[in-house]
Amino acid sequence: MTADLAVPVSSADWLVTEDGFDPARASYHETIFTVGNGRSGTRGSLEEGHLGARSGSFLAGVYDHHDAPVTDLVNCPDWLHTLIWVGGQRLDPDSAEIVEHRRQLDLQTGLLHRRTVYRDPAGRRTQLESVRSASVADRDLLSLRLVVTPLDHDAPIRVLTGIDGDRRNLERLPGYPEGTTFDWSNRWEKWALSTHLRETGRGFTDDGVGWLRARTIESEIDLGYALTVITSAPAQQVSAHQYVGFEVTGEGGTPLQIDKLVSVATSRDPGRDEDVTDSAVAAVHRARSDGLDAIIAASNAAWAETWLDTDCVVTGDEHAAQALRFGIYHLLISANPDDPTVNIGAKSLSGEGYRGHVFWDTEVMMLPFFTLTQPDTSRALLGYRSHTLPGALRLAAANGSEGARYPWESAATGDEECPTHTNDGVNRIWPREEEIHVSADVAYGILRYADATDDESQLLESGAEVIFRTAQFWQSRCTPDPTGDGLSILQVMGPDEFHSHVDDNFFTNRLARWHLEQAADLYDRLADRHPDRLAEIAAIAGVDADQAEGWCAAAAKIRCASDPDAGLIEQFAGYFERDDVAITTWDANNMPKYPEGYHHHNCEETMLLKQPDVVMAMFMFPDWYSLDTVRANYDFYEARTLHKSSLSPSIHAVVGLRVGAREMADQYFARSAYVDLDDNQGNTAEGMHIASAGGTWQLTVSGYGGFSTTGGRPCFRPSLPAAWERLRFSIRWRGSRIVADLGHEESTFELQTGVDQLQIEVNGDEVLLRQGEPTVVSHRES
Ligand code: BGC
Repeated sequence: MTADLAVPVSSADWLVTEDGFDPARASYHETIFTVGNGRSGTRGSLEEGHLGARSGSFLAGVYDHHDAPVTDLVNCPDWLHTLIWVGGQRLDPDSAEIVEHRRQLDLQTGLLHRRTVYRDPAGRRTQLESVRSASVADRDLLSLRLVVTPLDHDAPIRVLTGIDGDRRNLERLPGYPEGTTFDWSNRWEKWALSTHLRETGRGFTDDGVGWLRARTIESEIDLGYALTVITSAPAQQVSAHQYVGFEVTGEGGTPLQIDKLVSVATSRDPGRDEDVTDSAVAAVHRARSDGLDAIIAASNAAWAETWLDTDCVVTGDEHAAQALRFGIYHLLISANPDDPTVNIGAKSLSGEGYRGHVFWDTEVMMLPFFTLTQPDTSRALLGYRSHTLPGALRLAAANGSEGARYPWESAATGDEECPTHTNDGVNRIWPREEEIHVSADVAYGILRYADATDDESQLLESGAEVIFRTAQFWQSRCTPDPTGDGLSILQVMGPDEFHSHVDDNFFTNRLARWHLEQAADLYDRLADRHPDRLAEIAAIAGVDADQAEGWCAAAAKIRCASDPDAGLIEQFAGYFERDDVAITTWDANNMPKYPEGYHHHNCEETMLLKQPDVVMAMFMFPDWYSLDTVRANYDFYEARTLHKSSLSPSIHAVVGLRVGAREMADQYFARSAYVDLDDNQGNTAEGMHIASAGGTWQLTVSGYGGFSTTGGRPCFRPSLPAAWERLRFSIRWRGSRIVADLGHEESTFELQTGVDQLQIEVNGDEVLLRQGEPTVVSHRES
């Protein structure tokens, strides 16, 4: 293998390593070693496959409903597919023995490097090296270099490599008795499968580029794949049903190198007007003339640019440092700044969990990272909500409401995609009908973006329409309460999914109130500053000044309960009357366990919480409540929260840090930051908990870094974990980049781009930053 690609270029603190091959852990590695670029995500499966593998290659926005109870993110053609023979003997973990195996994901470059040595049944040792990439310089391109080297024999090596269009999605897990677990070798095989693809053509161009075309059955998206190989030995074209590829046979005793260059185009790609096959073939022509080394160099350069804004460096705690970069890497490969019609699914593009659906996770957990480091990507993610507004309008109408209601689970169109039952069909779940707070979460994402970028163009383009239409939904969803003076929101589920059919959920009501106030305020602002554009939006959305005034009036009446003495906020009407079941046992990670007799589906009558609800509102709106109120509620709800969502620990940590719950915060950091790196929930095999990566970033920056934008300017209140020596991160604030390098005794702040000077606040004191002049602030009492 060309020396410079055989091993990662980056230092150890950028690498995630797998040493030795354990088939029982293979699907975990498939998830964490996903390579991608926001357009595509490819699980880190071994090229040659094996028993128990769950390979997957996903394209953002390519969903299909055919043959499945709810829409799936389609498991698309496998561009890695490879078979290897040595002297007629198959090389894969089931047919030969792995004697050495190391893979390293280089987070800095997005490359997955591999070296494996097999001993086949005839005793021959053969080495396999590979490096794979999804280019971020040209998001149409995928590449694989594979080098097969005979170590102690001269048997001929034969490799078949191509694009395999014969793919299925996991559809439904049959009901088994509670607690049934499956062996690694058959866990995926227990699922029924669904088919989403039909081949619509395949062939080779005159100059030897292979192509395969498929169409999603119900959504009718055309997928065009093209590939070529640059090889050290002659290659034969192979074409079979749903397959196109090349077979390469080397001379006995000599290494075989294959550079596989793949391109993908779909009929849903914005701005793509040519035929998908032509487009994919043209990209492969370009790739072939550049060569794999140049493709990787260009991608590496683009990664380097991105890391300038996004890197988060911890010194003094290597595990935390690695976990942070790992989470950021996965966030970055989940989002595509060039496509405003797609978003990030709950498992990103790294697995089939949650069927690739988009949740509130984006706006609340992940968007702050993008808004404050990669605003263009944030804007593209917000674009998805505008793109899916028609679906949200349909959903509101279908439920007898006005305006737009965003679905709890969203895919291509903004129609509701949340299933009615759990994956095994056994338990009825209610978020589809009741978890309506997502519409306010969308507004939160839009308004935070506008604040952090000081850019109204997103609002003017489509954000204001989204905010107005969702305000109409809230107003119509309120009903007069029994006193006749107030407004209630009935029959909902708040973020805490243990409680359904509740009335006046605090989180929902408080956010609806805020949303209506913001909508009215925005209406007035636009009337002042952009009357012409407002007139256009108002005409489309059917809004006028009277309606906007009505939003204000409605907001003031929405019931938002609190106990004035204790400062305690009741999660929903009647919550305090539920059974106060105590949490008494904790697991090895120090996380609460279900009290005896309780499980995910029978906590309705208790005060037990799945995840923060009141505390979530305090996280999202830190300025709303006094420290005493935050403390009272944090203490109360903390004792009753089971953290059965990976969204939960980071939120509790941030709020906990505000009230001095430091030890707990460090514990929650571990839970959140290592959820996938260490698989501490045991289900990383199904895909990344990508919201948790966003939460970990927020915990690091807003929790330990104490970053907030109170009063419209960047404030820092550093308070690092004892084990961390320093924490360095960048923030994009209204066109400038601020680099904060925080320590226990002093911190340094540098304004690197944008305005010439900027006022920030550090521990409550004003600090003036001048561009290019690092400013040191001491944290010692003077
Ligand atoms: C959580 C939700 C979350 C969803 C997707 C659920 O378990 O309760 O808050 O949106 O997972 O991550």
